[in-house]
Amino acid sequence: MFGLFKNNKSQADKDTSIKIVGLTKVYRMGDVEVHALRGVDLEVKRGELIAIMGPSGSGKSTMMNIIGCLDTPTSGEYYIDGIQVSKLSDDQLAEIRNKKIGFVFQSFNLLPRVPAIDQVELPLIYGGGDNRRKRAKDAMAAVGLADRMGHKPTELSGGQQQRVAIARALVTNPSIILADEPTGNLDTRSSEEIMAIFQKLNEEQGITVIFVTHEPDIASHTKRVVRLRDGRVLSDEVVAVQRRASEVLAALPDEHIQEVVHK
Ligand code: ADP
Ligand code: MG
Repeated sequence: MFGLFKNNKSQADKDTSIKIVGLTKVYRMGDVEVHALRGVDLEVKRGELIAIMGPSGSGKSTMMNIIGCLDTPTSGEYYIDGIQVSKLSDDQLAEIRNKKIGFVFQSFNLLPRVPAIDQVELPLIYGGGDNRRKRAKDAMAAVGLADRMGHKPTELSGGQQQRVAIARALVTNPSIILADEPTGNLDTRSSEEIMAIFQKLNEEQGITVIFVTHEPDIASHTKRVVRLRDGRVLSDEVVAVQRRASEVLAALPDEHIQEVVHK
């Protein structure tokens, strides 16, 4: 009987990628307190693809940074793959971040003059492991940049730079990818290309993907949209018709014919 109970529990944990209970975050600036998160509950199943929306200042980045182990909450509990992250030391947080999470930022956060392939390899140098070059090449190929390995970010378009950043997030083989407004600086085609990569990674490799966006069209590439407002979950809704990025891309007018000719 106890065995059965235990199995049920571990089954529940096994299917849960992220669980957040009563998460709060207060920033203190002198005498002023900013309540960025006021008690957020969220459960994300393994292999989900989720969009986070909400007005500026609603706490989206704060929540993403805490989920990504880049920041710690003021109170509340947070589990990743069943591990209670809110109790971990800074060193342990860094380890979880390296092993389980790939983070993608709006502004790419690449080194401007270092070849793409070297930047993608960088997380493996911290984390150790064999076949670093091969794994970096595979990650570049996975985002469709096999022919741009030696390019520096200054020689790449915004969309290509974001794909390098996704390759860098992917190279450690994370179970979760977190992206804070990944298409915020990109045009429609580049945004759809990023969504096509997220949908592929999610569907083919079962990676849990959570991204922040302001655009309803971009959010509708998921099956689930969570809205924040004033540091709380305002709504958590199922998307009726999921947009397929590959289909949207195929239907876009070919404005990049120029680039194809130059290849
Ligand atoms: P969003 O990403 O939804 O725009 P944020 O999570 O960045 O929202 O911010 C939520 C609130 O917390 C805002 O009021 C913001 O000004 C405040 N905030 C965010 N980061 C800090 C910080 N490092 N120090 C003080 N206040 C912050
Ligand atoms: Mg933000």
